[in-house]
Amino acid sequence: MVDWDKVVNYLQENLPEGVYNAWFRDIELGEVNDDVVYIKFKDRFKLDWVESRYLNLLRDALKSVDGKNYIIRLVAPAEPEELKPPSFNYPEEPVQKVMFQSNLNERYTFENFVVGKSNQFAYSASLGVAKSPGNSYNPLFIYGSVGLGKTHLLHSIGNHIQNFYGNLRILYINTEHFLNEMIQALQNNTMMEFKQKYRSVDVLLIDDIQFLSNKESLQEEFFHTFNELYHKKKQIVITSDRPPKELLALQERIRSRFFWGLIVDIQPPDFETRLAILRKKAEEDGLQIEDDILYYIASNIKNSIRELEGALIKLLYWSSLTKKEITLEYAREVLKDIVTERKRTISAEEIQREVCNVFNLTIADLKSKSRSKNIVLPRQIAIYLVRKLTDLSLNEIGQSFGNRDHSTIIHAIEKIEKQRKKDKQLKEIIERITSGFEG
Ligand code: ADP
Ligand code: MG
Repeated sequence: MVDWDKVVNYLQENLPEGVYNAWFRDIELGEVNDDVVYIKFKDRFKLDWVESRYLNLLRDALKSVDGKNYIIRLVAPAEPEELKPPSFNYPEEPVQKVMFQSNLNERYTFENFVVGKSNQFAYSASLGVAKSPGNSYNPLFIYGSVGLGKTHLLHSIGNHIQNFYGNLRILYINTEHFLNEMIQALQNNTMMEFKQKYRSVDVLLIDDIQFLSNKESLQEEFFHTFNELYHKKKQIVITSDRPPKELLALQERIRSRFFWGLIVDIQPPDFETRLAILRKKAEEDGLQIEDDILYYIASNIKNSIRELEGALIKLLYWSSLTKKEITLEYAREVLKDIVTERKRTISAEEIQREVCNVFNLTIADLKSKSRSKNIVLPRQIAIYLVRKLTDLSLNEIGQSFGNRDHSTIIHAIEKIEKQRKKDKQLKEIIERITSGFEG
């Protein structure tokens, strides 16, 4: 594990403050595997600047932590204009296609993929691959839990490439199908054809690679296919429900291949993105639906976009069946099985009290101006939890913490958000307190 604070310290010590603030202040540590370290930038412009001038310094900074020579990969989300639905000039006549069963689903495209904070890295990396297959990140590895858009992105890549490079052989395959096909090939004595098929593609899109786990002969075959395609500079895109380092039942030599390219994750969408997705889906279905109902769904279904869609579909279905107009009351009734509404509203004070219990502080401490370390962290945790568990605005949260201004509140939330991912103990504390409220 890279001690990121040390890297930051090194940079601060070795750069003029202005330079540090301009280019490095908001960089974050991404994936780390052995000697490859991903560093996340907020935008492309900063990334390019740092890459052209400060790469060696970054290398030294990482080396200062534990003496290792890391390989550094800089990544940035898509540019704001890239985040808008791209208006590709698709060829009027589809480019002459080769006869090849690609398994692509045309329903999934970049245009109808809603981009938000939670998926922008995955989106822009996918777009990069689609624009220049085989020449950008190879392999591209996208991971995230179920229903967050991995399969959608995979098909989008394939569809985009198909529209622009019609002569490329593109193949989408779910790992389970790959397995079934192989078993059949073994039974029918057609392994040669099977191998030939997979090793002759230009773009291999392989979904849900976690299904390779514990399947030795499949892994063997995949390994050789991967190598051959990779060395021929053919594009490979892989999805998984977990990061490579957690694919424990996969041979190490396969896992390590994934780090040759780029690894990006998709997180559950935030509220704004959930709302945008609902709006988009409603629009696609030509549906008039009141904002308060979309708000209701977006604030109560959080973990998966598939569930979000499911809720909308269910609502439509029932309303077309019963010919009833969709009102908020009606939505509540129809969705009551899907939605687990918060049973009661939680107050900022309850959360403060709970955090004080855990850290043995008083509420006055939390609200005080003290910068003492053993108060600052609990205070930030409490702020973070109030944001997460209540509907209070940033200003209201500020008021309930001794009139702090809203930038302080944002800072606290972001800091804990970030820290939580790196610090297991902190994560546990937060989960414990949270579960006390959701129980
Ligand atoms: P996963 O493969 O990660 O389990 P899918 O790609 O199957 O998830 O996505 C589930 C559903 O949600 C699909 O219908 C997909 O179109 C939709 N979806 C996911 N992400 C988005 C997004 N960002 N914008 C629009 N629709 C999305
Ligand atoms: Mg999927």
